[in-house]
Amino acid sequence: MSSVLEGRCACGEARYRLASKPMFIHCCHCRDCQRQTGSAFVLNALVETNRVELTAGRTEGVSVPTDSGRPHVIHRCPTCRIALWSYYGGVQWTSFVRIGTLEEPSALPPDVHIYARSKLPWIALPPGVPAFEAYYDWKKVWPAESIERRKVIFAQGA
Ligand SMILES: [Zn+2]
Ligand SMILES: [Zn+2]
Repeated sequence: MSSVLEGRCACGEARYRLASKPMFIHCCHCRDCQRQTGSAFVLNALVETNRVELTAGRTEGVSVPTDSGRPHVIHRCPTCRIALWSYYGGVQWTSFVRIGTLEEPSALPPDVHIYARSKLPWIALPPGVPAFEAYYDWKKVWPAESIERRKVIFAQGA
Protein backbone atom coordinates (compact mmCIF):
# COMPACT_ATOMS: atom_id res chain seq x y z
CA MET A 1 0.00 0.00 0.00
CA SER A 2 2.94 2.36 0.60
CA SER A 3 3.79 3.23 -3.02
CA VAL A 4 0.18 3.96 -3.94
CA LEU A 5 0.13 6.56 -1.17
CA GLU A 6 3.09 8.49 -2.55
CA GLY A 7 2.65 11.63 -4.59
CA ARG A 8 4.42 14.58 -6.11
CA CYS A 9 4.04 17.87 -7.95
CA ALA A 10 4.60 18.19 -11.70
CA CYS A 11 8.28 19.21 -11.52
CA GLY A 12 9.03 16.59 -8.87
CA GLU A 13 10.67 18.90 -6.30
CA ALA A 14 7.87 18.44 -3.79
CA ARG A 15 7.20 14.81 -2.85
CA TYR A 16 5.07 13.35 -0.12
CA ARG A 17 3.81 10.15 1.37
CA LEU A 18 0.61 9.46 3.24
CA ALA A 19 1.46 7.47 6.36
CA SER A 20 -2.18 6.38 6.70
CA LYS A 21 -4.92 5.73 4.25
CA PRO A 22 -7.40 8.63 4.09
CA MET A 23 -10.19 8.99 6.64
CA PHE A 24 -12.59 9.82 3.82
CA ILE A 25 -12.54 10.87 0.17
CA HIS A 26 -14.53 13.70 -1.36
CA CYS A 27 -15.36 14.32 -4.96
CA CYS A 28 -16.46 17.95 -4.80
CA HIS A 29 -18.44 19.50 -7.64
CA CYS A 30 -18.77 22.99 -6.11
CA ARG A 31 -18.09 26.10 -8.14
CA ASP A 32 -15.03 27.01 -6.02
CA CYS A 33 -13.40 23.66 -6.77
CA GLN A 34 -14.26 23.95 -10.45
CA ARG A 35 -12.70 27.40 -10.64
CA GLN A 36 -9.63 26.52 -8.58
CA THR A 37 -8.84 23.38 -10.58
CA GLY A 38 -10.05 24.62 -13.95
CA SER A 39 -11.86 21.31 -14.20
CA ALA A 40 -15.17 19.62 -13.43
CA PHE A 41 -14.49 18.67 -9.81
CA VAL A 42 -11.75 18.12 -7.26
CA LEU A 43 -10.75 14.83 -5.62
CA ASN A 44 -9.71 15.33 -2.02
CA ALA A 45 -8.38 12.67 0.35
CA LEU A 46 -8.99 13.79 3.95
CA VAL A 47 -5.99 12.77 6.04
CA GLU A 48 -4.60 13.87 9.38
CA THR A 49 -1.92 16.48 8.63
CA ASN A 50 0.56 14.62 10.85
CA ARG A 51 0.13 11.61 8.52
CA VAL A 52 1.19 13.66 5.46
CA GLU A 53 4.97 13.38 5.25
CA LEU A 54 6.81 15.75 2.94
CA THR A 55 9.70 13.58 1.70
CA ALA A 56 11.29 16.21 -0.58
CA GLY A 57 10.99 19.91 -1.26
CA ARG A 58 8.41 22.09 0.45
CA THR A 59 5.02 23.64 -0.12
CA GLU A 60 3.87 27.22 -0.01
CA GLY A 61 0.39 28.17 1.23
CA VAL A 62 -1.71 30.45 -0.95
CA SER A 63 -4.94 31.88 0.43
CA VAL A 64 -7.81 31.90 -2.06
CA PRO A 65 -11.19 33.67 -1.98
CA THR A 66 -14.20 31.35 -1.55
CA ASP A 67 -17.93 31.70 -2.19
CA SER A 68 -18.60 30.90 1.48
CA GLY A 69 -16.07 33.44 2.75
CA ARG A 70 -14.45 30.73 4.88
CA PRO A 71 -10.66 30.50 4.69
CA HIS A 72 -9.09 28.13 2.18
CA VAL A 73 -5.31 27.82 1.88
CA ILE A 74 -3.92 25.82 -1.03
CA HIS A 75 -0.43 24.39 -0.58
CA ARG A 76 1.60 24.40 -3.78
CA CYS A 77 5.08 23.50 -4.94
CA PRO A 78 6.93 26.85 -4.96
CA THR A 79 8.59 26.01 -8.30
CA CYS A 80 5.87 24.53 -10.55
CA ARG A 81 2.91 25.85 -8.49
CA ILE A 82 0.99 22.60 -8.64
CA ALA A 83 -1.47 22.22 -5.76
CA LEU A 84 -0.78 19.26 -3.46
CA TRP A 85 -3.22 19.84 -0.59
CA SER A 86 -5.50 22.35 1.09
CA TYR A 87 -6.56 23.46 4.53
CA TYR A 88 -10.21 24.46 4.75
CA GLY A 89 -11.93 26.69 7.28
CA GLY A 90 -8.71 27.56 9.11
CA VAL A 91 -8.33 23.93 10.22
CA GLN A 92 -4.75 22.76 9.76
CA TRP A 93 -4.84 19.35 11.37
CA THR A 94 -6.81 17.81 8.51
CA SER A 95 -5.24 17.98 5.05
CA PHE A 96 -7.31 17.74 1.89
CA VAL A 97 -4.83 16.00 -0.40
CA ARG A 98 -5.34 16.31 -4.17
CA ILE A 99 -5.70 12.73 -5.27
CA GLY A 100 -4.55 13.44 -8.81
CA THR A 101 -1.04 14.14 -7.46
CA LEU A 102 -0.70 10.58 -6.11
CA GLU A 103 1.20 7.97 -8.10
CA GLU A 104 -1.94 5.82 -8.33
CA PRO A 105 -5.07 7.95 -8.07
CA SER A 106 -7.21 4.96 -9.07
CA ALA A 107 -6.42 3.37 -5.69
CA LEU A 108 -8.53 5.99 -3.90
CA PRO A 109 -12.02 6.30 -5.41
CA PRO A 110 -14.45 8.85 -3.87
CA ASP A 111 -16.52 7.83 -0.84
CA VAL A 112 -18.99 10.61 -1.52
CA HIS A 113 -19.95 13.17 -4.15
CA ILE A 114 -20.73 16.59 -2.73
CA TYR A 115 -22.22 19.80 -4.17
CA ALA A 116 -23.84 17.68 -6.86
CA ARG A 117 -26.17 20.65 -7.47
CA SER A 118 -23.42 22.34 -9.45
CA LYS A 119 -21.92 19.29 -11.11
CA LEU A 120 -21.43 19.67 -14.83
CA PRO A 121 -24.44 18.21 -16.62
CA TRP A 122 -22.50 15.69 -18.69
CA ILE A 123 -21.09 13.95 -15.61
CA ALA A 124 -23.01 10.83 -14.58
CA LEU A 125 -22.56 10.00 -10.90
CA PRO A 126 -21.83 6.33 -10.22
CA PRO A 127 -24.59 4.27 -8.60
CA GLY A 128 -23.81 3.06 -5.09
CA VAL A 129 -21.74 6.09 -4.06
CA PRO A 130 -23.64 8.60 -1.88
CA ALA A 131 -24.20 11.99 -3.50
CA PHE A 132 -25.38 15.17 -1.80
CA GLU A 133 -26.76 18.36 -3.31
CA ALA A 134 -24.49 20.42 -1.02
CA TYR A 135 -22.38 19.47 2.01
CA TYR A 136 -23.32 16.54 4.25
CA ASP A 137 -23.41 15.38 7.86
CA TRP A 138 -20.12 13.53 8.21
CA LYS A 139 -21.23 11.92 11.48
CA LYS A 140 -23.92 10.03 9.55
CA VAL A 141 -21.77 9.11 6.56
CA TRP A 142 -18.22 8.36 7.70
CA PRO A 143 -17.24 4.84 8.84
CA ALA A 144 -16.91 4.49 12.63
CA GLU A 145 -13.14 4.02 12.39
CA SER A 146 -12.72 7.34 10.56
CA ILE A 147 -14.99 9.16 13.01
CA GLU A 148 -12.69 7.94 15.80
CA ARG A 149 -9.61 9.20 13.94
CA ARG A 150 -11.25 12.58 13.42
CA LYS A 151 -12.11 12.82 17.14
CA VAL A 152 -8.49 12.11 18.08
CA ILE A 153 -7.07 14.72 15.76
CA PHE A 154 -9.58 17.40 16.75
CA ALA A 155 -8.90 16.73 20.44
CA GLN A 156 -5.19 17.24 19.81
CA GLY A 157 -5.77 20.40 17.76
CA ALA A 158 -8.13 22.00 20.26
ZN1 LIG B 1 7.01 21.30 -8.45
ZN1 LIG C 1 -15.63 22.12 -3.58
